[in-house]
Amino acid sequence: MSRKLVWIEQPRFQGFGCSECAWIFNSPGSPAGKSFDEMMRNFEFQRDKEFALHVCADHPGTKRVSA
Ligand SMILES: [Zn+2]
Repeated sequence: MSRKLVWIEQPRFQGFGCSECAWIFNSPGSPAGKSFDEMMRNFEFQRDKEFALHVCADHPGTKRVSA
């Protein structure tokens, strides 16, 4: 298990995804927070949580070639 959270840039999607499967992080709307820092913290928390929870086997698809 050496999956990593990676930044993905494709014509139709830009954002965070998994290096080992087709999972991508879909932000559920704007992150909550009273300030930019707080919003960033909430965004990163949500992103890391969802990444940690996803199961690669549930997201088969293009196995990305790591740079
Ligand atoms: Zn994965």
